[in-house]
Amino acid sequence: MSETLSTVSRPYPHHRVLFVDHASVLGGAELSLLDLAIAYRETSQVLLFDDGPFREKLEAVGVDVQILKAPSALLAIRASGGLSTLKVFPALWSMARQIKARSRDFDLIHANSQKAFVAAALARWMGAPPVVWHLRDIMTASHFSRLNRELAIALANSQASQVIVNSQATGEAFVAAGGKPDKVRVVYNGVSAQPFEQVTSEQIQQIRDELQLDEDTPLVGSFSRLSYWKGQHVLLEALRELPQVHAMIVGKALFGEDDYATQLRTSATSPDLSGRIHWLGFRNDIPTLMKACTIVAHTSTEPEPFGRVIVEGQLAQRPVIAMKAGGAKELIEDGVTGRLVPPNQAIALGQAINDIIESSDGGHILAQQGYHHAVEQFSLETLLTRFHHVLSEVVEPAMQT
Ligand code: UDP
Repeated sequence: MSETLSTVSRPYPHHRVLFVDHASVLGGAELSLLDLAIAYRETSQVLLFDDGPFREKLEAVGVDVQILKAPSALLAIRASGGLSTLKVFPALWSMARQIKARSRDFDLIHANSQKAFVAAALARWMGAPPVVWHLRDIMTASHFSRLNRELAIALANSQASQVIVNSQATGEAFVAAGGKPDKVRVVYNGVSAQPFEQVTSEQIQQIRDELQLDEDTPLVGSFSRLSYWKGQHVLLEALRELPQVHAMIVGKALFGEDDYATQLRTSATSPDLSGRIHWLGFRNDIPTLMKACTIVAHTSTEPEPFGRVIVEGQLAQRPVIAMKAGGAKELIEDGVTGRLVPPNQAIALGQAINDIIESSDGGHILAQQGYHHAVEQFSLETLLTRFHHVLSEVVEPAMQT
C-alpha cells in the first residue's frame, strides 16, 4: 500500500532522520513508519532492535535499514511494547550508546515506539542529535505500568524536542500522565487512497468465492492483530444474535497473545457461530479484503489511539463501526461518517450491524460520507506536510546554533 508514496510530490528538501523502532513485526505503528521512511529514504535510515518482516518490507521499497540487535531482556515484549521493569536498564544503556554512535550523520532521531524512545532519549543525554518521540499509544495504566509511564514522561519532558501524537486523545493522555503540553504536536496518520481505488470487482468476487459466500450474504470484517484489547471476542458475541451474518477475521497475534487467538477460535466452533467465522490470518491485501466486506468493524475494548483500520475502511467505501472512545471519536462522526458504539458492548455492536444491514441503502451514504472525510482529512500528503513542518521546528533552530 505504501509504495504509492513514491508518487507523492516532495516540495521541500528532506531532513536526515534516523528512525528508530524496537519492533520488526507489522503492527500499525510500523506500517505508519513505513510511509514516513519511504518518503525520507533518500536522506534517512531506519534502525530496528530486531529482525523480522518489517525489515523485509522496508528493504523491498529501497529504505536503508540497519538492525541493532537488542539483548533479549529488552525484546521480551509485553502488550503494546511497554518496558516491563527497570531490569532492562543496562540493555537500554547499551542500545543508547550504539544509537548515539550511529546518529552522527543525522539531523535528528525519530523514535517510533516507547522502548526506542527511552533508548534514544538516553542517547540524546549522551550528546546525540535532537530526539522527537512519535507517540502512538494512549499512556494509561491499561497498557503501561506506572514505572514505565513515569520513566517515559520524565525523559520526554527533559530530552524530547517534541512529542508527535497520532490523535488529540493520545496527546491528552500524555499530558494527563504528566507530559509537558508545549511539546505536543498532533499529526494524524495518513493513508493512501490509491490501493483501494485499484481493487477490481473480479478481485472482490474471488475473495467471496474463496469464502463460498454469495454477494448478498452480509460479511463483517475485522482487521487487527489478535489481541484481547482489539476485541475480536466482542464481535463474535455480537454475531451470536445475527445468524445470517458472517465475519472475516484478518490478522494474527503479534505480541505473544497466542492464547487469546486459540480461545477465539475455540469459541467460534460453538453451534451458534460454526461455519460463519472465516479466519484469514495476517494478510497484505487489506484493500481487497475490506472491499469484499459489507461492513468493517473495529472493536477495541480500550480507547484506540488512532485506528488506521477505521480510515482504511472508509477509504474502501464500506460503512465502518468503531468504538466510542479515544482517537476513533476523531475519525468518525456517529451516524454521519460511520457508526460509534460503546466499547465492550456486544448487544450495541450487534444492533449497529443489524441497523446497517436492514437500512434501505445498506449503509451506502455512511460509507460515501466516510470516504470523503478520510480522503480530505487523512491523506498521505497531509501527513507528510505536517510531519515535515514539525521536524523543521526542531532541525532549523538547532542548525542556527
Ligand atoms: N493489518 C495488515 N494485515 C493484517 C491485519 C492488519 O496489514 O492481517 C494492518 C491494518 O490494515 C492496519 C494495521 O495493520 O493498517 C493496524 O493498525 P491499527 O492502527 O488499526 O492498529 P495497531 O496495530 O496500531 O494497534
